Amino acid sequence: MQGNFEWLLIRVETDAGITGLGEAHWGSGVRASVQFLRKYLIGEDARDVDRLWRKVYRVTSGAPWSGAVLCAANGIEMALLDAVGKLFNAPMYQLLGGRYRDHVRIYADCHAGKGSDGDQAGDGDKGAASSGSWHAAYDPQADYRSAAYAERARAALDLGFSAIKFDLDVPTALQADPHNRVISAAHLEYMVELVRTVRNEVGPHIDLAFDCHWSYNVGDAIRLARALEPFKLWWLEDPLPPENVEALVQLRRSTSTPICTGENLYLRDPFVRLLAAGGADIIEPDLPRSAGMLEFKRICDLADHYYVPVAPHNVGSPVATIAAVQMGAAVPNFLAVEYHAIDVEWWPSIVTGDAAHIVDGVLAVPQGPGLGIELNEEVVRAHLVPGTGFFDD
Ligand code: MG
Repeated sequence: MQGNFEWLLIRVETDAGITGLGEAHWGSGVRASVQFLRKYLIGEDARDVDRLWRKVYRVTSGAPWSGAVLCAANGIEMALLDAVGKLFNAPMYQLLGGRYRDHVRIYADCHAGKGSDGDQAGDGDKGAASSGSWHAAYDPQADYRSAAYAERARAALDLGFSAIKFDLDVPTALQADPHNRVISAAHLEYMVELVRTVRNEVGPHIDLAFDCHWSYNVGDAIRLARALEPFKLWWLEDPLPPENVEALVQLRRSTSTPICTGENLYLRDPFVRLLAAGGADIIEPDLPRSAGMLEFKRICDLADHYYVPVAPHNVGSPVATIAAVQMGAAVPNFLAVEYHAIDVEWWPSIVTGDAAHIVDGVLAVPQGPGLGIELNEEVVRAHLVPGTGFFDD
């Protein structure tokens, strides 16, 4: 499907007449990987979910496209687990160990700096999806005023959200060089003023996070995090690149602003190093990108060992989002799931009923078997990526 991202939905069919639904994170080569992996699943027992997830990942582990393969494997595994839930007439959270909560908190990723053409400047995720590059370019037509962010924050609160996030690494003209990881004095002042304005707008009781998309060096990240301490952020996300655990530890030990990272880490291994070193206050693995359902649960359990909460990064359709909600029901140290489609009016209607209707900033955990959702075929067909079909159409 084509929303504000490409939502790659996957359906597995079993000879028991049961189908399973999953979603893979967008990315170059992911759709081709799903197609490629089909032959390795035909004839297999869909109930062997974990073995099949390892199989589809490992059969291509020597290929130079392992990130795409892993995203594909994760989406396939989600669909297998959905099918198993339907086979045993059990919600997915029961397959994951049972329920801690009936509702899972959803936080709104807000976009601001709205330009005259209606695009959301500063929405790096969207820029990545549309252009293949990460950082959005400076748009002289965009409105980067902190007041524009405050307006968007108020709009999200009016929708019932009590937790919101903004991009902080907005591409203003104040940031002289986007490549050297240096925060200019003027840009630091701009960012502090932006956070101050949004905090003043929403008040002290709203959970407020800001994302920096791996942009800065250690010293400047520390200066930024310390400058934001008065505003009591929920978290500051990825002020540093994700690979250097020692740098993250240095940052985290230098500020009381909580540091969140993890959306670009794959499988449990980097989380072992990150958590053992004390490099994050909160982790944010992306379920259909970083891990399959069962691997994600292992990451959550690992984080719980270090008393670290988990707030999944999520840019998916209701399918991936509900999968994260099912995970949230089954994980004690679960914090909230990201919702990145606040401007996509038809997002909830991708699935039938009220399953994807966010009310008062939470989603009810579906009680039906598997994911507990059904696609609204008419809506999906209306938003297919050009040149693609409804599954095998
Ligand atoms: Mg992020």
